[in-house]
Amino acid sequence: MVNESIIVTAAEYILQGKVVAFPTETVYGLGANALNPLAVAKIFEIKQRPSFDPLIVHISSLESIEKLIQYPDKRIYQLAEKFWPGPLTIVTYKSSLVPDIVTAGLNTVGLRMPANPIALKLIELAGVPIAAPSANKFGLISPTTAQHVKKQLPNIDYIIDGGKTNIGIESTIIMLNDDGFEILRHGAITTDEIEKFIPYHSTHNTENKILSSGMMKSHYSPNKPLYILGIHTIPYPTEECGLLAFSQSSNHAYKKVIQLSQNNDLKECAANLFAAIHEMEESDVRCIVAEPVVEKGIGIAIMDRLKKAAYRFQNS
Ligand code: AMP
Ligand code: MG
Repeated sequence: MVNESIIVTAAEYILQGKVVAFPTETVYGLGANALNPLAVAKIFEIKQRPSFDPLIVHISSLESIEKLIQYPDKRIYQLAEKFWPGPLTIVTYKSSLVPDIVTAGLNTVGLRMPANPIALKLIELAGVPIAAPSANKFGLISPTTAQHVKKQLPNIDYIIDGGKTNIGIESTIIMLNDDGFEILRHGAITTDEIEKFIPYHSTHNTENKILSSGMMKSHYSPNKPLYILGIHTIPYPTEECGLLAFSQSSNHAYKKVIQLSQNNDLKECAANLFAAIHEMEESDVRCIVAEPVVEKGIGIAIMDRLKKAAYRFQNS
C-alpha cells in the first residue's frame, strides 16, 4: 500500500476534474470523476479513444450503485456478493445521473468494484464514482505497472505507483438481459463461474449494437508484429524473433524468450502477459511469437488478447 497522502492528493485531483492513473487488480486505470463530463472528456483526449467506446464506472461500495442504475436488478446484488470486489464488470441500464459521455451514448453503464486497496481508497476518498478505462493509448497494450503508463501517457496529471497488478488482464464484462447474461469481454472470471448464479443467455444482437473493446477484432496491439505459433505464418527467421512461452519447452532458436510461468500456471501467465509484450516491444526482436494456450478458464481470455493483438498483422 502506498502512503495515504498520495491517495489523498489523487482524490483531490479527481474532485478538481483532473485525470489520475491508478492501479487496480486487473490493469492500471486512467480515472476521472464519472459525474463530471468535462473531466471524462479528458480521458478520451489523452487516450485518443473514439467516443463510441464506453468507460467502466468504478465504485467502492454497493450502496453507491443505487443512484447510477435505472432499477435495482437483484441479479446485480447476487453477482456483487459473490464477485465484488473483483474483476467482473456488470453492464446494466443506467440512471440519468451517469453522463452520456461515460457510456458513449448508450443507455447502459458498466459497473465494477475493483479488488485493489489503493483503488478502493481512492474512490472512497474522492466520494464519487470514477470512470476509468485502461491507462494506455487506444488500441495498444494495457499497462500492468506505473512505468508502462508513463511510457504511453507521459503527460497525465498524476500516477499512483502501486507496483505490478496481480491479475494482469482486463475484467470480464457481462451484460444482463431478460433471460440471463452474455459475455462482452472475457477475463479472469469465467462464464462457468457466473453461470452458477445466473443463466448464460446470448441474444446475439449485441454484436452490431455495442462496439466494446471486447468485441473489436483488433485491439491490445503491440508496436511490433505479433503472431501465434501454429495459427499464423511467421515471416521472419526464428533467430530474429522473441518468444512468449507458456510451457516449459526448449526454445533456444529464438533471439529472446520470456517464460510466462515457471509451472504452466495460466493465472501467472495472464498476470505476466502484458508486461512481457511491453518488454518485447522495447527489445531488439523483429516480431513477437506467442505460444497458444488451451482455451479453458482464463486461457480463453489469454487467447482472446493474443488473437486481437495479432489481428492487425494478418491484414496489413
Ligand atoms: P477498457 O477497460 O479500456 O477496455 O475500457 C472499458 C471497456 O468497457 C469498453 O471498451 C467496453 O468494452 C466496456 N464497456 C463499458 N461500458 C459498457 C457498456 N455500457 N456497454 C458495453 N460495454 C461497455
Ligand atoms: Mg483498454
